[in-house]
Amino acid sequence: MTELFDYDLFVIGAGSGGVRAARMAAALGKKVAVAEERYLGGTCVNVGCVPKKLFVYASQFPELFHASAGFGWTIPQSPTLDWATLRDNKTAEIERLNSIYHDLIDNSGADLIDGRATIDGPHRVMVNNHTYTARTILIATGGWPYIPEFPGSEHAISSNEMFYLDTLPKTAVVVGGGYIAVEFAGILNGLGVETHLVYRGPSLLKAFDREMSEKIQEGMAAKGVNMHLNSDIKAINETDAGLSVRFNDQTSLDADLVLYATGRKANTAGLGLETTKVRMHDNGAIQVDRNFATADDSIYALGDVIDRVQLTPVAIQEAMVLVDHLYGDGQVTIDYSNIPTAVFCQPEFATVGLTEEQARAEYSDIAVYLSDFKPMLQTLGGGADRITMKLVVDTESDRVLGCHMVGEHAAEIIQGMAIALKAEATKAHFDATVGIHPSAAEEFVTMRNKSR
Ligand code: NDP
Repeated sequence: MTELFDYDLFVIGAGSGGVRAARMAAALGKKVAVAEERYLGGTCVNVGCVPKKLFVYASQFPELFHASAGFGWTIPQSPTLDWATLRDNKTAEIERLNSIYHDLIDNSGADLIDGRATIDGPHRVMVNNHTYTARTILIATGGWPYIPEFPGSEHAISSNEMFYLDTLPKTAVVVGGGYIAVEFAGILNGLGVETHLVYRGPSLLKAFDREMSEKIQEGMAAKGVNMHLNSDIKAINETDAGLSVRFNDQTSLDADLVLYATGRKANTAGLGLETTKVRMHDNGAIQVDRNFATADDSIYALGDVIDRVQLTPVAIQEAMVLVDHLYGDGQVTIDYSNIPTAVFCQPEFATVGLTEEQARAEYSDIAVYLSDFKPMLQTLGGGADRITMKLVVDTESDRVLGCHMVGEHAAEIIQGMAIALKAEATKAHFDATVGIHPSAAEEFVTMRNKSR
């Protein structure tokens, strides 16, 4: 029946989810096309996870230079950063990844179509004035940064532009209290920029364990980020010297750069959805069922454009579920509980499972194990960093419900803890596990005393 259509599957968007779906479908012998108008690899590879982490590494060197003195090293002169070198080396690495994505798609047998795709009915997609027909269309167009409109908002930039700045600012204002705001505040601060973090609420990272968010907030402030909580920007004016940021309380601040990290919206504008029955949530994200089917039989959507969990590995897993649903035996599933996540702020944060607040709401009796200590690097290094770890345990079943960490290597450590939570490990399993010494991670298996 394939001959009725040009393609079995037409994927719109070559990001993490789209490319995984395309490659897997092609590997099963399906005729697949992937249309991409911008860059291969989507947000994660180009203006997200990957370049962000490279910038995080760059921003950590000053603290390491400082710590090295306690280990006997002499750094001859005050180290300086050449922003252009960092930016351009990062871009070269991203271009290398773009070409790997190109080869992955090519080698899978899927056709890569360079251009903006518009849906023109349930089985038709137009790219570069050519109409392709497809049995199934997959919308994997991701998200796009959202900046609210207010006087002078046109002077604010989003995370997209942060990766390509001509020069590094002397003073920067970062707005928002979520992942991107705290990550970029840490990067800018570490690179030597006077950094102001402006958040409208009382505490950052409000979706996470409260005690952990407070530790992050304290840690960021201790590293030099200027915190402006319960604060919002009323206007931005251009001045001879740069930008003048006026706050709600009528105070103002001069800056060279204002970054708005105030969330991301589903990328559906101009996609031709009006020619379909596809429905959207109030926030613009596409509505799908458990198999990622939209309200239009032949159209599916996954990843950031459905806004369930905006994380690369989630989009990839969603793609595997979809391909199995479309062409396999429908046994592959995705479990949205216990998804580990890391925020690459400084100090770093990673978590899996329930926060203490969620556990208290869901379980009648919980135990909390807490550990706060100085990392070994700092004993000679002399820095002020600390590590905080927390286990949240259901007293009745002894199951570990949540595992949280603020401090160095948190992401690397919590990934392993996530396997334990997935396997429904109990506190007794943690206690029976031999630690790796000396490491920070061993603290997770040696916490014997309940904190509350
Ligand atoms: P988030 O949703 O995490 O945070 C948005 C922040 O902006 C919130 O603090 C919100 O405040 C604030 N905000 C929203 N609207 C306004 C407004 N009009 N004025 C002032 N403040 C506002 O979005 P991000 O942009 O930080 O990141 C998007 C998503 O990308 C994340 O949720 C995450 O899923 C993903 N991501 C993952 C990363 C990782 O895995 N390490 C890294 C970066 C992004 P309030 O809380 O009050 O609503």
